Amino acid sequence: MLIDWKKIKARRILREGKIKIDFETETKIYFKVFSKEEHSVIYDKIKKSFNCDCKWFSLKARECSHILAAKMYLEKIKKQSI
Ligand SMILES: [Zn+2]
Repeated sequence: MLIDWKKIKARRILREGKIKIDFETETKIYFKVFSKEEHSVIYDKIKKSFNCDCKWFSLKARECSHILAAKMYLEKIKKQSI
């Protein structure tokens, strides 16, 4: 059975409140993720793309658990502000 560890990790980051928006500009949102190490996730509003400074992301150039957590976090904020 395939277990989606990325999703599990991202959910845990969210549940434990280990993510926050550091600051936001016109074009970008900067997140801080406190996993084992601290990571910076940047969302580019124009390109609609995420970037993370972790090893996994730079090696595989694929969505990591930090980015997934940032996505979920944005969804959560959106729902709360309605
Ligand atoms: Zn990452």
